[in-house]
Amino acid sequence: MNRDSILIRGGTVVVGDDVMKASVLVRGETIAEVGELAGVSADRVVDATGLLVLPGAIDPHVHFNETNKGHKGVHHYFTGGRAAAFGGTTAIVDFADQLHGQPLLSVLDVKKEQARGQAVIDWNVHPIINQVTPEVVEEIPAVVAAGLPTIKCFMTFRSLTGESAVNMYSGKPGRIISDQDYVDLTTPLGEAGGMLMVHAEDSTIIDKIAMDKMARGETRAIDHAQCRPPMAEAHAIQRIAGVAKKTGCPVYIVHLSSIDGLGEVTAAKENGIPIWAETCPHFLIFTEEWLKREDGYKWLGSPPLRDEATQEVLWEALRDGRISVMATDDCAFSLESKLAGAENFEFCPEGMPGIEPRLTIMYSEGVAKGRITLPQLVELTATAPARLFGFAPKKGTLTPGSDADIVLFDPSVRWTMSQETLHMASDYTSYEGVEVTGKVAKVFSRGELIVDGEEFLAEPGRGRFVPCKLG
Ligand SMILES: [Zn+2]
Repeated sequence: MNRDSILIRGGTVVVGDDVMKASVLVRGETIAEVGELAGVSADRVVDATGLLVLPGAIDPHVHFNETNKGHKGVHHYFTGGRAAAFGGTTAIVDFADQLHGQPLLSVLDVKKEQARGQAVIDWNVHPIINQVTPEVVEEIPAVVAAGLPTIKCFMTFRSLTGESAVNMYSGKPGRIISDQDYVDLTTPLGEAGGMLMVHAEDSTIIDKIAMDKMARGETRAIDHAQCRPPMAEAHAIQRIAGVAKKTGCPVYIVHLSSIDGLGEVTAAKENGIPIWAETCPHFLIFTEEWLKREDGYKWLGSPPLRDEATQEVLWEALRDGRISVMATDDCAFSLESKLAGAENFEFCPEGMPGIEPRLTIMYSEGVAKGRITLPQLVELTATAPARLFGFAPKKGTLTPGSDADIVLFDPSVRWTMSQETLHMASDYTSYEGVEVTGKVAKVFSRGELIVDGEEFLAEPGRGRFVPCKLG
């Protein structure tokens, strides 16, 4: 582990709204100075001529050690973290399901165990609550105080047979909770300084369509998408905004996918409700046309892919701040697992491997095509996630005193994403054939060079749990 000083010289540094030719001096794990630094020497000098110097990206939405519909995901703290690092991500926030009958905070022990000897980048975790009991409500302040200020819940995934505790898809305990549960939960969460993350899709809309489709034998990937129309997302957001208005607890909409959903987020914001939204690269790159393919199951997830008109509106919203964060919702399975649901979405584990392409996609489709600026790229992938999820001021910006999480990005390289060129652990990639401009060249995590071109240098276990606190 390198504890010496490093001078990153000659690059184009992005700090806040400034894009400038500057040098970055790193001492140990920390950024010491940013500026011209003409007379400054260091133990090591890194030539960043022609490269962008960006803060390490933060991904507040990844699923490591995930099990979905009986299938085990392939990204854990090493494989997922390595792919994240190759994509310029230096901190992630994972999810952990509440363990019934145990304190909510025990999820942190589970994740620490999974991270031990494995984590290569820094991490935090969002507990998922799927049963709101008096014990859980009482425990909320302690969970926030322990550095887990963001809790996730679902407005979808429940039984269609009336057994609310059983998920219709997985046969396992369902994840949906009631609107009154949301009120009970967000009252102490808001008071404790926490934030609620919500998977906002309304089950009353989805389940009726799904039942009808299943009865007709319409169960392919495109049918799955048609079960989950934009109206379902919009209606759920409207409901949760009502909860946030009542309790004052900040609410964050994960994986916003639709124009209608965006409309509800915007209306709530204009109403003074503390609400934020993220979207994900797959919504900007793929449309429902991919779901109509023979191998459409590779893109199956909830909420589903939409259309080109939606993509342009999502870009506009990323540009003007109606959407605050670009996260990945990485949920990586093997092809064999996805194939289990090729003919029937009920058996298809949801999501796609996506932890790696985010920064490059945002540069290539965003900055290089003039849709967003470089400072906006940094805001959406690093600064806003750091601020909203409580990594600030240590992470998310290249400021003296911050962790030296630094990405050197080459904006001139043209390449094609494929199973061969990406580093994610699935044995297929949904991004096969996607042509991009720009590539991560080097990644430093707390001053340590962990990615150098195609070389991965991080020692498994070096990644740290970062207790977070919302500002
Ligand atoms: Zn997710």
